Amino acid sequence: MKKHNYSAGPCILPQEVFDKSAQAILDFNNSGLSILEISHRSKDFVAVMDEARALVLNLLGLEGKGYQALFLAGGASLEFLMVPYNLMKENGKAAYLDSGTWASAAIKEAKLFGETVIVASSKEDNYTYIPKGYEIPADADYFHCTSNNTIFGTQMKTFPKTNVPLVCDMSSDIFSRDIDFSQFDIIYAGAQKNMGPAGTTLVVIKEEILGKNGRTIPSMLDYAKHIKAESMFNTPPVFSVYASLLTLKWIKEKGGIPAVEKLNNAKAELLYNEIDRNPLFKGAANVEDRSNMNVTFLLTNPEHAETFDKMWKEAGVSGLPGHRSVGGYRASIYNAMPIESVQVLVDVMQALEKAI
Ligand SMILES: *Cc1c(COP(=O)(O)O)cnc(C)c1O
Repeated sequence: MKKHNYSAGPCILPQEVFDKSAQAILDFNNSGLSILEISHRSKDFVAVMDEARALVLNLLGLEGKGYQALFLAGGASLEFLMVPYNLMKENGKAAYLDSGTWASAAIKEAKLFGETVIVASSKEDNYTYIPKGYEIPADADYFHCTSNNTIFGTQMKTFPKTNVPLVCDMSSDIFSRDIDFSQFDIIYAGAQKNMGPAGTTLVVIKEEILGKNGRTIPSMLDYAKHIKAESMFNTPPVFSVYASLLTLKWIKEKGGIPAVEKLNNAKAELLYNEIDRNPLFKGAANVEDRSNMNVTFLLTNPEHAETFDKMWKEAGVSGLPGHRSVGGYRASIYNAMPIESVQVLVDVMQALEKAI
């Protein structure tokens, strides 16, 4: 039986993405070859890469606005250092918002390249909220933030207005909500949270910000080189890009980001309403900063854990335990999670209330 998969990543994808990518492994485009064995320079795969790159810009509303989309390897973690390598000047400085574990991992890498100003941090409160009301130094080479904190279940609802280039790690909420994406100069996202299997990272770059920092950048870490090579500087993660394209098409067919957002809001509301209503549960994150992607919650009485864990497992729910730094539970309700699966979890929470 197919489980209700709440894993934070790699995560659930639309069923049709599983079906079509399975088919492509056996026979890609009726070519008599598997997607796993064709040349990345073949006409069929170049078409996949081109379509995926174009569809990203289309869905984000960035067509014709000077942006390029790349599918790179190395995970979002590699972007933690590619961003400063490409944007921070020698003796320059960068500004970072420390809103979670991934944000602080990005800060650690930036420090290798130059002065790294932390404009605000919620670390002392175990990252339960998004810091607000901070100032971004006007002379920073860029400002980096994390739109959704996958581990703690917080999400930025607004982004700062600033004249410095804006860089955002959107790994866990890309394509989940309609925002003005043209306010960002670089957006990056590891595929495995909301777009595809692990192995590729989407990077969307406003081209005009590149080539200004005076550093000699190793080829594989140079965004400009990847753009020039149309995201084929070396062999790209062929299968991950293909499966990501299938997800992008699925989003487009659903009506694009606004349609997906509507469903995401309904799912999040259903689950948070139960967490707030049911006396056996409480939310882990500051209410106004709650994530619509990663819903973190705790039992008010941890002694009920054994019963609850048994019940949700019996209901076919998978991947619910929270990250070790938060404890409790984390329900990752990414784009592909159907509302019916969220209802299954809510039903279990209500059954627990009756059983206690
Ligand atoms: C998972 C995650 C990362 C790390 O992604 P990798 O692809 O494993 O390097 C970075 N940022 C955020 C917000 C994440 O959720």
